[in-house]
Amino acid sequence: MRIDIVTIFPEYFAPLDLSLLGKARASGMVDIRVHDLRSWTYDRHNTVDDTPYGGGPGMVMKPEPWGQALDTVLADRQGESVPRLVIPTPSGAPFTQRDAERLTEEPWLVFACGRYEGIDARVAAEAAESMPVEELSVGDYVLAGGEAPTLVMVEAVTRLLPGLLGNADSAVQDSFARGEMSALLEGPVYTKPSVWREREVPEVLLSGNHAAVDRWRRDEALRRTAQNRPELLAHVTGLDQRDREVLA
Ligand code: SAM
Repeated sequence: MRIDIVTIFPEYFAPLDLSLLGKARASGMVDIRVHDLRSWTYDRHNTVDDTPYGGGPGMVMKPEPWGQALDTVLADRQGESVPRLVIPTPSGAPFTQRDAERLTEEPWLVFACGRYEGIDARVAAEAAESMPVEELSVGDYVLAGGEAPTLVMVEAVTRLLPGLLGNADSAVQDSFARGEMSALLEGPVYTKPSVWREREVPEVLLSGNHAAVDRWRRDEALRRTAQNRPELLAHVTGLDQRDREVLA
């Protein structure tokens, strides 16, 4: 998979060299290229923003550097492949685990990191003539820039790439994982020692009875979802009698 990131803060992406993603990058499994938007500015101050038309507070990112940056990235295409452009914005559609799964199938993603009050809207409209474009939000709050949302999305997408996770099963058992967990939160997890500060690990986890462990995990997932995200329960399908008792 190839990922291009355009930003005015390339240093923000140093964490992409850490951990499993760092190894995947070093091995060539993921090709991540970070571009400085200011490379496409030609004035003495490398200006990327200007005052908003219509007035109001803050500044807006100018279209010219963005247009050139995206043209340059696109010009690097091999054959017929076209990237999908992701524009992080609080006004975008909510980014979910389903989006992470969908985007992990894409061979090439480009992220455009906005700052200030965002990017001149003509940039997305213009880009949409040459590639699919989507605006995604990482949550109902406002951050200072698109860099942190891009890190979030890149990590969520790349950890689903086959071979990236040390243990592929862990993605299957995660909160929101496709299948049984798609609308459930994962319950609590424990490791050794079995007793720590007089707190014991639930006995069933030491029993070696896999069916009982699976049932306990589902019970805990249902309880945690009911407590922290009750609105998700409406999307849980195939509730059995025991599930209903747990939720009662
Ligand atoms: N004026 C914009 C609004 O109210 O929707 C907020 C702009 S925000 C200060 C600057 C940049 O941060 C955005 O262009 C976007 O790239 C990024 N950003 C902030 N919050 C975000 C979120 N929840 N999801 C995705 N991107 C976000």
